Amino acid sequence: MQLTVDLRSDTVTKPTPGMLEAMWSAKVGDDVFGEDETIIELEQKTAAIFGMEAGLFCPSGTMTNQIAIKCFTQPLDELIADQTAHVYRYEGGGIAFNSGVSTRLLNGYRGIITAEMIEPEINAENIHFPHTSLVVLENTVNKGGGSCYTLADIAPIAELCRAKGLKLHLDGARIFNALTHTGDKAIDYGKYFNGISVCLSKGLGTPVGSVLLADVATIKFARRIRKVLGGGWRQAGFLAAAGIYALDHHVERLKIDHAHAAILGEELSKLSWVSNVVPVETNIVLFDTVEPAAAILAKLAIHGIKASDTDKHRIRFVTHLDVHPEQVEHVIKVLKSF
Ligand SMILES: *Cc1c(COP(=O)(O)O)cnc(C)c1O
Repeated sequence: MQLTVDLRSDTVTKPTPGMLEAMWSAKVGDDVFGEDETIIELEQKTAAIFGMEAGLFCPSGTMTNQIAIKCFTQPLDELIADQTAHVYRYEGGGIAFNSGVSTRLLNGYRGIITAEMIEPEINAENIHFPHTSLVVLENTVNKGGGSCYTLADIAPIAELCRAKGLKLHLDGARIFNALTHTGDKAIDYGKYFNGISVCLSKGLGTPVGSVLLADVATIKFARRIRKVLGGGWRQAGFLAAAGIYALDHHVERLKIDHAHAAILGEELSKLSWVSNVVPVETNIVLFDTVEPAAAILAKLAIHGIKASDTDKHRIRFVTHLDVHPEQVEHVIKVLKSF
């Protein structure tokens, strides 16, 4: 039987037997009434990990980001983000639609922006200008190929935001990958951010869910916005149980995904048909191909390997908990055969 390997995204994982067991046995209640004890446990647990006051469990990272933007801005405001930012590129124009806010885009290095880049883009108080009220960072940066901010990079940005009265939100869809790479402590993040989105369904491998973290007052308002968006869910504790299980069992193992990505990056860099490999930091490998990427993807598909093209000559591999060592070997063997 041919091995199949799905490297399109770390969202494709299926729950493990242990996770399913935790889901089956979850104690649930109606979360709109605030009665789902498993959801409450997940929200408190995640908040404690990051040194934040409170949490709100939501169906997706897009929803946690969009709710955060709504909480931290007023219509007519402007937010600042890197031009690769997921909140801008991949959330369907939601910044304008949900919050009536415009976006100032910066040209960071692999999606990483600095306080020096942000400061001149903060609008002065002037009737002509939108009011700058929010900065959004992403860690790791998806479009940057899993590139990471360290807390040392973040501290001056947080200081600038505080001095200028701006809020700071983190799109932490892959925050645990960033922590695994940098060695920073999750608990220290709470000192710097007003809001943090933590995704449970990417590297952590749950079927569904993200948690928005903030202070108590913000989460109270966020709960209202979630309801308005149709996200007031009921016995979702079955899903929260998967999140609790993932926080307990799937964080340590992210280093395996990183090791697999590093091996793939190294092997790719030796191949004549690969013109460039973006340095691998976490679980994402971006590489450029001499041939059109679509042609390479078609050849990979014949060998049961799924990947995605992010540009005409660029392919993305993402490793995750359903990619095992024998599958990495299979991919390398196939790549070498082209
Ligand atoms: C995947 C992702 C999200 C959220 O995605 P959902 O599919 O809505 O959960 C947000 N930010 C980044 C950087 C992502 O990669």
